[in-house]
Amino acid sequence: MGFANRLAERFRGWIRAGAGLKRLVLVTFVALLSFSVMLAGGFFQATRAADDATRANERQLVSNHLGIVVHAMLATEAVQLTWDEAVRSVGGQAGSPDLKWADTNLGQFLAHVAKTDAIYLVTPRGDLLRGWQGDRQADASYAPLAPAVRRIIANLSLNRSLNEPAREFRPLQDGTWPYAAAGRPLTRWAGGFIWYEGRPALITVISIIPDVNYGLLRRTPNHVVSLRFVDAGMLEEIGGAVLLGDVRFTPMQPDASSDRNSSELRGIDGRPLGWLSWRPHAVGSQVLRRTAPLLGAYLLFFVGVLVVGTLMIRQALRVAREMAAREAQAHHHALHDPMLGLPNRAHVMQRLRALLQEDTGTPARPGEGEQEVLLAYFDLDHFKAINESIGHHVGDDLLAQIVARVRERFGPNYVLGRLASDEFVLLRPGESGREAADRLGEELMAIFADPFIVFGHSVPVSASCGISWAPDHGRDAKGLLRNADIALFHAKQRGRGRYRRFTHDMDATIRWRMDLEIELRRAIALDQLTMVYQPIVNVADGSIASFEALLRWNHRERGDIGPGIFVPVAEQAGLMPLLGDWVLRRVFADSHDFGSAEISVNLSPLQLVARDFLPGLRAMIADERVDPARFTFEITEGVLLDRSEQVMELITDLQDMGFRLALDDFGTGYSSLAYLRSFPFDRIKIDRSFVQGIETDIDAQSILRAIVALGRTLRMKVVAEGVETLLQQQLVHAAGCQLIQGHLYWRALTPEQVVALLATDRVQDLRIAV
Ligand code: C2E
Ligand code: CA
Ligand code: CA
Repeated sequence: MGFANRLAERFRGWIRAGAGLKRLVLVTFVALLSFSVMLAGGFFQATRAADDATRANERQLVSNHLGIVVHAMLATEAVQLTWDEAVRSVGGQAGSPDLKWADTNLGQFLAHVAKTDAIYLVTPRGDLLRGWQGDRQADASYAPLAPAVRRIIANLSLNRSLNEPAREFRPLQDGTWPYAAAGRPLTRWAGGFIWYEGRPALITVISIIPDVNYGLLRRTPNHVVSLRFVDAGMLEEIGGAVLLGDVRFTPMQPDASSDRNSSELRGIDGRPLGWLSWRPHAVGSQVLRRTAPLLGAYLLFFVGVLVVGTLMIRQALRVAREMAAREAQAHHHALHDPMLGLPNRAHVMQRLRALLQEDTGTPARPGEGEQEVLLAYFDLDHFKAINESIGHHVGDDLLAQIVARVRERFGPNYVLGRLASDEFVLLRPGESGREAADRLGEELMAIFADPFIVFGHSVPVSASCGISWAPDHGRDAKGLLRNADIALFHAKQRGRGRYRRFTHDMDATIRWRMDLEIELRRAIALDQLTMVYQPIVNVADGSIASFEALLRWNHRERGDIGPGIFVPVAEQAGLMPLLGDWVLRRVFADSHDFGSAEISVNLSPLQLVARDFLPGLRAMIADERVDPARFTFEITEGVLLDRSEQVMELITDLQDMGFRLALDDFGTGYSSLAYLRSFPFDRIKIDRSFVQGIETDIDAQSILRAIVALGRTLRMKVVAEGVETLLQQQLVHAAGCQLIQGHLYWRALTPEQVVALLATDRVQDLRIAV
């Protein structure tokens, strides 16, 4: 797996981890929340249960206490009424009661001691003997109470023991009476609550019995009835006794929402009288109230943790996402060219490797599982020149149009990638072989058949293309691309605007070139190169106007190697500055032997743009003491296309120094007449291919005529190169061309031949026959 893939995988992992983290956080949060809710629920439940228990407890307390209140009253009265003197005075044992005694010892005393509201002394049948309200006599108030008192007394007389268990019942004159052990008569008593005068009241009935002289009891004794209203005072007492606040009586049970606890008040006869209600203690609620701040703090803490946690997680996730996005973007950038959005070299190689199933670990056996892929490597001819002459934005637009055309024609089954500014690669998986390659090549060339319209201008563009395919030309991406590159190189060598299929002997050519480069270095070092000089002739009289210096390499084994072959090698190998300097020095040296003859020297663009070209040239002029006026530098349009400041300055400097300039190879490349206007050339050299086409091409003649006319207007001489035939000579002459260079007149001469030629007047004799 490639580095980019691993990177992508890692970031997908990040994103996945992010999602997992999210889930984990969610689960934790939900768990925490449920736990908190459960805790709170349990807590509330517990306080509620505590409250309920307390309430039940309170009710029990109150109801118990009501019994105690009754019994306390009875007990208080019993003290006064278990008394021999009371029996004798008001016990109803013999004669009429001593009402005066009763006023003091019952009415006043009991009212005082037992806080009663009313007291009645009654017969065993419940008939009134005397009644008091407070300590005042109030017989009349008894009547409404009488039925209830009679019912109570009737119950008392059922011979049931009310206090301590009776040991026996002894006969009295009018019935029986309960006695305890030792013949002590028991007090019969009863107490409870009744409804009286529109409110509840505590009523007690108690019999008057002896405390010492038991024999005094001979007949059923009189009873004392006491009445005490359940008033605020009593309620307060009850509340105080059971430690409950705000005890109240209500006829109806207070509803649940009132938050009061209550207990039913039942009458002595068992009928409901109403309700006692009070403010409950509500322990749970208190606990709740006490713990509320703690709970609140916990809640706040929980919410805080939640909020902060969520924010942190979100932040972390956002950062992770951003990082992943940035990485994805970086990954995309790493694999795509930013301008056209096409896969870049790295990406193309990755795709190619994937297509070829490299890195699968299992080497395919020959013939089995081998992947077919066609690879077209193409680049635009002279794109640098186009780009720099018409502007980068135009160049960019042009590239975009080319990409659009390629995409339109080839569709999604092809992979288009961009390797460098104007170098593209087109992959066709699943195809291979010569025919498929030819089809691809022709279709690709067809894309450039029509010019492109860029910002309103029609721009003709051609491309060169090399095609290789797997598995024949390599089973690995690198080798396949390299072979397509070699084929591309050959396509360019063949004159551009064409495609070439890779062949294995091309590979040999490349090796040959590499060998050549090594040997060229050696040749320069060993001074194995020479210069020859080809005369340029005046058509009018055949006289020699000047010489063009041409480089020769006589290789010991390979024989003569033409500069057309090794100069490009030198240019590519970066040897041109070195080689160029060598040429200049040699030409300057030779020129001393040539009298005043004018000499033109070819300058390679790569030589010109070398940083120290001008200083080097100045040094040489000084060293060799030459007159720049004798020399013309031949440069090609390629240099001028690059209208950089540096080149412009250089040209001006050269002219300032006294050198003249010739525009070489005119008629190939761009041949823009505009250059002629903007650069002060001394000569225009019409290219050999143009001259050789002139015999058959009528247009070429008129173009030549136009160029010559323009040259004349601009005061530039026009030289026709490569004139080999008389017809060519006549045609260029007819077109107005004054200077001719070609085998028709002279081949290139050695310096010795030049010296000899210049020494004789009979130039014609030395002329080399065609
Ligand atoms: P060029 O500058 O166009 O040079 C003219 C070429 O045409 C020379 O080829 C010359 O021998 C050839 N030629 C002249 N008349 C005829 C003819 O009638 N018929 C035919 N077929 N060819 C003719 P050469 O010497 O092989 O040089 C080839 C190219 O190498 C030159 O083209 C020039 O671009 C380059 N070159 C030669 N010497 C130098 C040099 O010293 N420095 C640089 N930078 N380039 C050089
Ligand atoms: Ca030349
Ligand atoms: Ca030329």
